Amino acid sequence: MPVGTEAGLLTVAPGAFRCNICEAFTRVDAGKLEPRCNACESTLDLSGRPQESDALSLARAIALSPVPMLVDFWSPWCSPCVLSAPIVKALASTLAGEIVVLTVNTQEAEEAAETHAIYAIPTFAIFAHGEELSRQIGLLPHGMLESWVRAAIHPGCASGSSRLRGKRSSPDVA
Ligand SMILES: [Zn+2]
Repeated sequence: MPVGTEAGLLTVAPGAFRCNICEAFTRVDAGKLEPRCNACESTLDLSGRPQESDALSLARAIALSPVPMLVDFWSPWCSPCVLSAPIVKALASTLAGEIVVLTVNTQEAEEAAETHAIYAIPTFAIFAHGEELSRQIGLLPHGMLESWVRAAIHPGCASGSSRLRGKRSSPDVA
């Protein structure tokens, strides 16, 4: 996303973005104007907006993402999930380029829920280098969600949020 102007030039946050057309990942350098997808050459969405994915696209993204991914496993009938959506969206915008955020509707993508052993929703999981780093079950306020994500993707910088990492909420919808 545009983060400011320097010498009159619009700059973008460096990092990696997922194309919302072809789902390929593209690395973007700071200062590059109107970056395009390496694969299909569409203009990249730099907002970091969460992208809905199914079992297959999730598996591919976990394998290929050059940056950590936050995955929101949700369902439309779950009110904590619906309440979480704007929080996830805001965090995705804050961390655009640093992480990629996907959402998985567990009602439609049952296979993905099964593969990742999702027993309660919302479940938030962080993946990097093809593996799950951490998961958190239940609605979290923005600040706590952000601390948990930052602690997982920058383990050395964790401060005070490590308590959260092993914590499991009730197995029911939280
Ligand atoms: Zn593309």
